[in-house]
Amino acid sequence: MTRDRLRIAVQKKGRLADGSLSLLARAGLNVKPRDDELLLRVKNLPIDILRVRDDDIAAFVADGACELGIVGLNTLAEDGYGEDHPEIDILAPLGVARCALKIAVPESWNGAGIGDLAGKRIATSYPRLLKRFLDARGLEASIIEMTGSVEVAPRLQLAAAICDLVSTGATLEANGLKAIETVFESEATLIRSRCALPPALDDVAQRLARRIDSVVATEGTKYIMLNAPRDALAQITALLPGAGAPTVIPLARENQVAVHAVCQESVFWETLEGLKAAGASAILVVPIEKMML
Ligand code: ATP
Ligand code: ZN
Repeated sequence: MTRDRLRIAVQKKGRLADGSLSLLARAGLNVKPRDDELLLRVKNLPIDILRVRDDDIAAFVADGACELGIVGLNTLAEDGYGEDHPEIDILAPLGVARCALKIAVPESWNGAGIGDLAGKRIATSYPRLLKRFLDARGLEASIIEMTGSVEVAPRLQLAAAICDLVSTGATLEANGLKAIETVFESEATLIRSRCALPPALDDVAQRLARRIDSVVATEGTKYIMLNAPRDALAQITALLPGAGAPTVIPLARENQVAVHAVCQESVFWETLEGLKAAGASAILVVPIEKMML
């Protein structure tokens, strides 16, 4: 029996969980999750959200049990789902859950670099990515696989170094460790199954992917409006952060134009001060709620 509702797999509990659900909510999916529910039924679209461990998401999408998923690039890469995998399309990076897989050593370590780990033990939950990294550098070290609490390995003298996910570095610091090398950069990403879908579901999948793209593209963007003397236009346009060609509208007042632009980068007070000094007036910066390009 073919399903008539699209399934998207997200992490139930952990660092990806809240971000995934809030992204789906911003893409217009009306869901009210309860903690114990594994399958959330979206009320306003034919979509169900399956909440699972992040380690299972890629496999569910690969075999078509779910059409879409949100998962970290690190997990995909470790499990061997690369860019050209036959069963999964890696769609948009989502700009959240940014982290990096790093090699770290005790703060007291006085080796000159990664080469000094030759013949030593490195503890990690990412043996495949670590091995690929070491092989590429012709470095031989023993990989000690651990499923969690990797950061305690040096203190317990289980390993000389660790290879673990880091974002702010606070966990490393709290455990007396320092990062010396980056193995893999990661963020959450949308993935899609390559299994064929009935046209109606394919349409829902495409709409959802497009909406998620829009939500991600809108993140942090601002709409800026100002009035400017026409002859200061080039200077003012150059000051607008991350804006494409702005819209320029003539004003009733002689030699004055209104300038409207979408800014992809932060608009700081310094930017406004610079615009003002260049002759701009009535400067408005407003958040963008939705955008479809
Ligand atoms: P699960 O129970 O679902 O298996 P988990 O313990 O494997 O959860 P989490 O710690 O919740 O996983 O991390 C999930 C994902 O979040 C990671 O695979 C990674 O993509 C991202 N992530 C991990 N650590 C960080 C971090 N420090 N900062 C930002 N993102 C991170
Ligand atoms: Zn996991």
